[in-house]
Amino acid sequence: MANIIPQHIIDSIQDAANIVQIIGEDINLKKMGVNYVGLCPFHSDRTPSLIVSPSKRLFKCFACGEGGNIFAWFQKYHNMSFPEAVREVGKRCHVEVPTVDLSPEEKTAMQLKEAAELVLQESSRIFRANLQTNDPAKVYLAERKINQDTADLYQIGYTSDYNGLTTTLRKLGYSEQNILAA
Ligand code: ZN
Repeated sequence: MANIIPQHIIDSIQDAANIVQIIGEDINLKKMGVNYVGLCPFHSDRTPSLIVSPSKRLFKCFACGEGGNIFAWFQKYHNMSFPEAVREVGKRCHVEVPTVDLSPEEKTAMQLKEAAELVLQESSRIFRANLQTNDPAKVYLAERKINQDTADLYQIGYTSDYNGLTTTLRKLGYSEQNILAA
């Protein structure tokens, strides 16, 4: 992903951020052993499935699989881009993020890269959904002794028709330019 914020700044923000406190401002967390648990906001959760680990600096939902670091939280929960998430977390833990002025060309290139990233995520979702509705593909995976957990872990999907993806992406409103960039 395009990233104009220096990596060492990103690292120091991640180190400085108190993930439990910050996520705790968005959802209720309860201490459980060394971790914290809460109701997952990414699926309709009845039992607390979301675990926040202060030592690993990660959150993870054991029901729907959402997870990641503090920046991923802001990207997913607050719909921010990665740079926006870094700046927001930086603000909360008082680490200054230098502003870099981008040329219009650099800005376009960065936006295109981020758009391409979204197209790739969407494509992966489509391929995995295809797999769920294709019996021969499921039988093939079973023969290879790949169960659903492994298929999820490696994001294994299925397609029989490559143009089908482009058509579906276009229907979902992705532009030709962004599809090509991906
Ligand atoms: Zn969940």
